[in-house]
Amino acid sequence: MSATSDAAKKYTDPGCAYCPSTVRACRQGETEARGPGYCPTKVDQDGIDSAYDMYADPFVREVAQASARVEAEGYCKWTRVEEICEFAKKLGYTKIGIATCISFVNVAKTLSGILESHGFTVASVACKHGGVAKEEIDISDVEKIHPGGHESMCNPVSQAELLNRAGCELNIVLGLCVGHDSLFFKHADGLSTTLVAKDRVLAHNPIGALHLADSYYSRVWGPEKPAKEPKLPAQGRRS
Ligand code: SF4
Repeated sequence: MSATSDAAKKYTDPGCAYCPSTVRACRQGETEARGPGYCPTKVDQDGIDSAYDMYADPFVREVAQASARVEAEGYCKWTRVEEICEFAKKLGYTKIGIATCISFVNVAKTLSGILESHGFTVASVACKHGGVAKEEIDISDVEKIHPGGHESMCNPVSQAELLNRAGCELNIVLGLCVGHDSLFFKHADGLSTTLVAKDRVLAHNPIGALHLADSYYSRVWGPEKPAKEPKLPAQGRRS
């Protein structure tokens, strides 16, 4: 069954990734009428309602409003760096943290200077700070990038802790590794946003692997690559 003709089916998981470009009815607020069977509106309206209730929280509402205003005011005009500055200003923030990869310290310096030029106070912490050996988290020598010598672990929990202690209200992630960024987000007290997502192969432009998934980067597919379209979301009745 195609992704476009199964509105009557029951799905257990939302599957927006498979929504045809000719549908995407949420843009017009018409999901009830036109959303496919795997549309979140059809699969889990209770979840949507529950999440909406959280916007009653004044902080959540303020952040959501600032985000929407930056989205609209800077639409196709502001770079992400500019958007981050404007977002922080709208929230009245004065202290910004930079959680940077050690390989990005040069650009962290540029970013720090830009933020300061807008009047923010900035704290920055590199991933390898502290110089803690990977052995301390039970990584063996053969598991290092270059076995045979000292290799400092990336320390995102400590990056978060130091930026928390510095009183950073908004943190900017600059090239942290996959997983290290996850730990940083989990442990940061302030809001966090990503400026650069690390991809050592694609010059930190990870979407390149998706755009070229059917040509130069076809290796990204697993062994069950579908002939044409990926599988639709899981089906069945939600209990
Ligand atoms: S919310 Fe519904 S209409 Fe919007 S992209 Fe997802 S499946 Fe499509």
